[in-house]
Amino acid sequence: MDFPSKHSATGTTIFTVMSALATEHNAINLSQGFPDFHIDEDLSQALGDAAKNGFNQYAPMAGLPVLRHEIAASFKKRYNVAIDADAEITITPGATYAIYTAFTAILSAGDEVIVLEPAYDSYIPNIEMNGAKVVPVALQAPAFEVDWSRVKEAMTPRTKAIIVNTPHNPTGAIWTKADWDELAAIVRGTDITILSDEVYEQLVFGDERHYSVLEHAELRECSFALYSFGKVYNNTGWKMGYCIAPPAYTQAFRRIHQFLAFTVNTPAQYALAHILAHGTAEPVHAVMQRKRDHFLNLIKDTPFTIHTPARGSYFQLASYERINDMPDMEFARWLTKEYGVATIPISSFYHDKKDDKLIRFCFAKKEETLDEAVNRLRKL
Ligand code: PMP
Ligand code: GLN
Repeated sequence: MDFPSKHSATGTTIFTVMSALATEHNAINLSQGFPDFHIDEDLSQALGDAAKNGFNQYAPMAGLPVLRHEIAASFKKRYNVAIDADAEITITPGATYAIYTAFTAILSAGDEVIVLEPAYDSYIPNIEMNGAKVVPVALQAPAFEVDWSRVKEAMTPRTKAIIVNTPHNPTGAIWTKADWDELAAIVRGTDITILSDEVYEQLVFGDERHYSVLEHAELRECSFALYSFGKVYNNTGWKMGYCIAPPAYTQAFRRIHQFLAFTVNTPAQYALAHILAHGTAEPVHAVMQRKRDHFLNLIKDTPFTIHTPARGSYFQLASYERINDMPDMEFARWLTKEYGVATIPISSFYHDKKDDKLIRFCFAKKEETLDEAVNRLRKL
């Protein structure tokens, strides 16, 4: 059978490829982004309780009211923004799904979407699956800042949306308030929609803080903000997330969502409402900052070069310029096979597979996992 390809990506997503290669070679998997430690006990208990207590049937299409209200309360407390839990929040099976659904809600054939690269690997296929055209704009290495003049140049009357991501995967860069003001200035007077991927909003280190699009009164009016519980509660396999958008945008989102997933895992929604109300033993940014610092300290003893420590997310970029000059995909395969540590080559985050000889380590791991990985890398 000859089925149509709906997007330009070839082969299988890099996260699946590298995790499979890690398993095949018994390597330590610092490639795909997922924690390797247990979730909060209270959270797993709440999931079991919800199932035992009979909360096992379809939840309302937009998500359980109790969960949506807890999310609104959390945003009020953490960002001092008022969100209408009924009209502006939709619970989704993860953020990847929410991004796809938001694109599908707004895009028509021939529309253009600006994507800042390197970019999470689902954005471009999701845009193309909707018949729209990707307009890539490169972030500026080594700190991966936005060059606003280039974004402005990329805009045309057909620009329908811009997708942004802070804290950023794979670079660990974060946006300042000034970045949001720059974005507001260039979209002012247009009907461009912003997709703001904020899945790592709670993973910001040191004295810095995350600025949400929801805090920007002007941009908030034309934005979908997308979140993942997996990155907050270390439970990526639950595939739970949500979309926050103004009422008209939320209606458009639900118009698609009702015929895609329709609704999301009920016991998980109860468990997440519980943990939002009660909190975890330790906040995730403190846990992850310890891991980032531990990893940065260890990696000094290897020939990798760290140009900029991650300011957020759970990823650290590293250059292997002092090791060899292989293409990054080849380097990542070689490192997995020969040294037993799997990573992600950064060319996979570019439409044209631009190769800056950088790889991404995920440090959201037990300290002993990071110790063992770096022990192996010391042999380089
Ligand atoms: N956006 C970014 C930037 C990510 O790194 C990820 C990876 N988890 C997602 C979205 C998707 O999150 P989820 O697992 O909830 O679909
Ligand atoms: N977000 C994770 C990463 O960047 C993985 C998600 C996935 O496997 N699709 O590693």
